[in-house]
Amino acid sequence: MTHPAQPKASHFINGEYVEDTAGTPIPVIYAATGEQIATVHAATPAIVEQALSTAKAAQKAWAKMTGTERGRILRRAADIMRERNHDLSVLETYDTGKPLQETLVADATSGADALEYFGGLAASLTGEHIPLGEDWVYTKREALGLCVGIGAWNYPTQIACWKGAPALACGNSMVFKPSETTPLCALKVAEILIEAGAPAGVFNVVQGMGEVGGALVTDPRVDKVSLTGSVPTGKKVYAAAAEGMKHVTMELGGKSPLIIFDDADIDNAVGGAINGNFYSSGQVCSNGTRVFVQKGIKEKFLARLAERTGNAILGDPMDEATSFGPMVTENQMNIVLGYIEKGKEEGARLICGGRRADMDGYFIEPTVFADVTDDMTIAREEIFGPVMSVLDFDTEEEVVARANDTEFGLSAGVFTKDFTRAHRVIGNLEAGSCFINSYNDAPVEAPFGGVKASGVGRENSKEAIKHFSQVKSVYVRMGDVEAAF
Ligand code: NAD
Repeated sequence: MTHPAQPKASHFINGEYVEDTAGTPIPVIYAATGEQIATVHAATPAIVEQALSTAKAAQKAWAKMTGTERGRILRRAADIMRERNHDLSVLETYDTGKPLQETLVADATSGADALEYFGGLAASLTGEHIPLGEDWVYTKREALGLCVGIGAWNYPTQIACWKGAPALACGNSMVFKPSETTPLCALKVAEILIEAGAPAGVFNVVQGMGEVGGALVTDPRVDKVSLTGSVPTGKKVYAAAAEGMKHVTMELGGKSPLIIFDDADIDNAVGGAINGNFYSSGQVCSNGTRVFVQKGIKEKFLARLAERTGNAILGDPMDEATSFGPMVTENQMNIVLGYIEKGKEEGARLICGGRRADMDGYFIEPTVFADVTDDMTIAREEIFGPVMSVLDFDTEEEVVARANDTEFGLSAGVFTKDFTRAHRVIGNLEAGSCFINSYNDAPVEAPFGGVKASGVGRENSKEAIKHFSQVKSVYVRMGDVEAAF
């Protein structure tokens, strides 16, 4: 019997499901059991061509609709997503393995937030009038054209919406390629947009690995590429986009610092460290995986952290009591287990976890290492799994310098009751998305994105509009033209 997660077909182009079984089969594995629940096929060159030509053809008419009309469609899609939250959350859990306890509140809901927010902004995208004596200049905010979105596997619904909603609000069309690991959810976003009234071809989904992504990025019809992925992929995609002088948004990896001063509320700081390391089993780009704890509270912090981490409930992700799911794939599990071994070898002190859980699926116990030093592999490289490194520090000056000593710059957090210090420290940290006495909040109203190797551009908020539109400036002369001859 076909599993309920199996989509009708692999791709969604021009308002309908499309299949081409000549493409390489991509198995969809449910991470909690290791069972294959669906199969999709990578896009063949014919499918890629169909998606790009459709999106190119649909864009102009979409951009000519008023912002109010476009916004209404996006907001209707948001309502449909919320009505179907339960089913979409179950699918998200099948796609990623994340527990339903999380997906019910974090995935279709945040996708709907993006559709609603950018739907609301669509009618207010205007230009400026710049008086110049009798003459004037006016500006128009115009769509870029055809945009490509490429997703990572940790938030398949959210990433499709974070890219699709601002792109469509500005009058662009999009071809979206989900991660080959989680191909299911973006198809539902495409289906819902059509149901909400989006013209066929405005938002299309094609499946595939890096080659399909590469074919999309290098196509001369494409005006913009928005990627969520790792730094090495980001470098390749950025370079390929540069060849065609295309706009880019790069949401890449991180190794973010979370700094806890000894005046911090310990339970809140422990809560921040848990949210910043163990949500989605640690598969979150903005995670604060280098937890710097001031020496005065170190042992108290570690004791409370170990106690609360022990309360994580590993189990069937479809059981709403489960609070901690598996790694997305066996491969990702093995990568993370490799880092845990490195941590042990290099002399970090294991506080809790540190092994594969004794159950079906790709579960790793939430793991905390203490006495981690700046040079250890687990403190330098992005692990993308439930492995927290706790490092000690003495002074503010020292911790800021150490926190910044990384190629990454996605996020940073500070816990302290001293607000002057909190703002000063955040001011000195090289990171794009920061938190004071909190960690990992990502409301659509706030810009999200990194500095340094963690990325270029911003998603969410009004900032995203700037990255999916461009300004045309028009000089209007009222009098005669003066010329030298
Ligand atoms: P990945 O870099 O392996 O893949 C990302 C996407 O790029 C996939 O869809 C993949 O098929 C595609 N791709 C790969 N090679 C390509 C190429 N040459 N041309 C075009 N597309 C190509 O990343 P992943 O393993 O799916 O996700 C994990 C990474 O994503 C982590 O580093 C994580 O930090 C990062 N991430 C960042 C954010 C953020 O918003 N900053 C959010 C989630 C994940």
